[in-house]
Amino acid sequence: MKILLTGGAGFIGSAVVRQLIGETDAEVVNVDKLTYAGNLGSLAEAGDDPRHRFEQVDIGDAEEVARVFAEHRPDAVMHLAAESHVDRSIDGPGEFIKTNVTGSFTLLQAARSYWDGLEGEGRDRFRFLHVSTDEVYGSLGATGYFTEETPYDPRSPYSASKAASDHLARAWHHTYGFPSLVTNCSNNYGPYHFPEKLIPLVILNAKAGKPLPIYGKGDNVRDWLFVDDHARALRLVLEKGRIGETYNIGGHNERTNLEVVRAICTLLDELVPDSPHAPHADLITFVADRPGHDRRYAIDAGKIGRDLGWEPAETFETGLRRTVAWYLANEPWCRNVQSGGYRQERLGLGAHS
Ligand code: NAD
Repeated sequence: MKILLTGGAGFIGSAVVRQLIGETDAEVVNVDKLTYAGNLGSLAEAGDDPRHRFEQVDIGDAEEVARVFAEHRPDAVMHLAAESHVDRSIDGPGEFIKTNVTGSFTLLQAARSYWDGLEGEGRDRFRFLHVSTDEVYGSLGATGYFTEETPYDPRSPYSASKAASDHLARAWHHTYGFPSLVTNCSNNYGPYHFPEKLIPLVILNAKAGKPLPIYGKGDNVRDWLFVDDHARALRLVLEKGRIGETYNIGGHNERTNLEVVRAICTLLDELVPDSPHAPHADLITFVADRPGHDRRYAIDAGKIGRDLGWEPAETFETGLRRTVAWYLANEPWCRNVQSGGYRQERLGLGAHS
């Protein structure tokens, strides 16, 4: 199996690449533009494996994308490349439209043209998995869950751009019979997460004794999914999912942002007992809320459990402990990604992407 994976130098994409190289015989063609969020250091040993081929290509570059398909002739596509940070989408939505909407369109067109030229088993077997977010469903009140039937109601430039690309992936199936599938997942966390997102940013700031600014009252609720559980779910959907279907992926771990930050502080108190900044929870400060901040996201992941047998392996407690321990043990990676364009310039802590 040769998989063309976009965004493989990012947080979730690199987790999928590490799994595919570490746990299967698959070959991976990793297509990534290497924006500020892409880091080849996140691939660890998988990056040097002969089954991994890296192509520094913008998914919006039709000519280059067509060359990659022609040269590598993949059996399937996993599309993860995106601009992914809500705060950045508020400050500058243009890049989000360019990559998430126009880039996804360009990739779909190239994949369809390649698929059109396939015959027999290769054509029957070809799949295009489009990876998206639960943020396309909008915001929930205190109760209820997003299902695959929940109407779309995106609120931020980021979620609107992802919603647009989800519609394109589905329309390509309905209109052209193109073998696409879509997944929508909740907030991921885990190792190699770029430190502009809530969990890694809090870990690094708390460790350095810096303030931990939290949007509003910290009562926005997110459902947290450990990144390796997500990577496993994506592999399963690619292998066994039904063409044209959508699968929601969630961790069954609803927490308020304040609960998340407090849990990190408690773990740091325990894992860095001689820290001059303990108790780390004293570093928490509240700042003005993000504009249009969605109140609550929660996923009903029943369908992927029933149809494909997927369940997350990590609870929030086990996953968070692994994550904090990883950041404590991997300072060089953190230093490397932080010395790039990113300077932790924004004040508030966004709840992820
Ligand atoms: P990320 O920002 O960590 O990584 C994105 C990767 O895409 C980077 O390596 C970047 O260099 C690459 N990229 C960006 N623009 C590109 C372009 N024009 N051409 C080629 N490569 C480009 O993102 P992530 O958190 O790993 O998210 C991956 C996917 O999962 C995204 O589609 C995102 O919308 C979706 N998602 C993420 C989360 C989450 O919690 N992180 C939740 C739901 C869905």
